[in-house]
Amino acid sequence: MATNIQVAVRIRPFLPFETGSKSVIDVLPGEDDPHDEKIVQGRSVRIAGSSRKSHAFTFDRCFSGLADQVELYNSLIVPLLSSCLEGYNATTLAYGQTGAGKTYTTLGPSAATSPDFFLPHNINKRTAEFDAVGILPRTLRDIFIQLERKRLSSSSVIDSENDSDGVEVGLQTVKQPKSNRAENEKKPFEYTVKLQFLELYGEDIRDLLSTGSSQTKKIVIRDSSDDAEAMGATEQVVSTAQEAMVCLTRGMLHRVTGATAMNAESSRSHAIMSVIIEQTSRTYDGDGEAVVNRKSKFNFIDLAGAERQKRTNAKGQRLKEGININKGLLVLGNVISALASGDKKSFVPFRDSKLTRLLRGSLGGNHKTLMIACASPAPKNAEESLNCLRYANRAKQI
Ligand code: ADP
Ligand code: MG
Repeated sequence: MATNIQVAVRIRPFLPFETGSKSVIDVLPGEDDPHDEKIVQGRSVRIAGSSRKSHAFTFDRCFSGLADQVELYNSLIVPLLSSCLEGYNATTLAYGQTGAGKTYTTLGPSAATSPDFFLPHNINKRTAEFDAVGILPRTLRDIFIQLERKRLSSSSVIDSENDSDGVEVGLQTVKQPKSNRAENEKKPFEYTVKLQFLELYGEDIRDLLSTGSSQTKKIVIRDSSDDAEAMGATEQVVSTAQEAMVCLTRGMLHRVTGATAMNAESSRSHAIMSVIIEQTSRTYDGDGEAVVNRKSKFNFIDLAGAERQKRTNAKGQRLKEGININKGLLVLGNVISALASGDKKSFVPFRDSKLTRLLRGSLGGNHKTLMIACASPAPKNAEESLNCLRYANRAKQI
């Protein structure tokens, strides 16, 4: 399967302190989109340039400030998740200047998602708080719902001759395996979900899930022919979506305290949150047992702020950081446009940055990649927003 890169744009709404300004970016509806006054989604955006010139760009999908997390998730992430559960790798990259909505899109407005969001009876509940939950917690919730459904229905196949009692799980009634089954008996379908949470700061990779010491562990990359491994990075097994979020929230805390200790800002680092899904399906027939193992990885990357470093505060250590971080985004742009060109012979400069080395298996192999370019509608950010749209435009497939 070929590389599959999708590029979406999300314009955030005005924030309370910005009200009164007029948006510099308009989303234009596509042929199949409603041409209402209130445009939520479309195919193109038009941005007013500084010199009374406007620029238009077309993407796979564009979301206006009226689009909520549920619309974005259903339109962009649900298809990625289903291919991920079929064994493909998937990556979402949130790109844009600081304050454009990368973290809001990936996680939501607060670091910790309410545990109530994950309760089975709240699955279809819509409240302002639940609606604001970002794509990663939503994905985790759906991963466990879908895998658990698969596990329970596979046990019910084996059990269907027995008259075991049905049990209520969410909205579905499924059969319980007989309780007298031997403990070590192989199940027809089993799964394991693991999390990884790395931070890339300059040339350092830190493992935000490492425990045991107050300092987060530093990680080195080992390249193989078509992938790279973050040697020794913690892979934390989690058994529910809520447990996964608790784990990620702990990682976020390490990220912030680490940054404070180094007198740095977390907006200068890339956060790489990965969900590793391992599935084992067993089928039995006269010849015995056939085992199918599937392993896939879904990466959620909250990239460093894409704003250009201001000369005034870019001195010494700061300057070095700025260059390193911009280098990661620069190389990522080059890698994505090389992949998007579809030219098999074109050189893909994965090795030029740690970010792209780490993402190689997800960007260069059997994978689906989604870039979500986040931009502010405020006139004072117009120049950065235009840079963001230009960067995203390079990533589009020809
Ligand atoms: P970034 O991670 O790109 O620096 P944030 O995600 O922290 O930016 O967003 C900056 C501010 O804007 C936050 O207060 C966030 O809650 C708010 N925000 C961003 N996107 C949206 C959105 N789509 N709807 C509502 N508020 C948003
Ligand atoms: Mg952020």
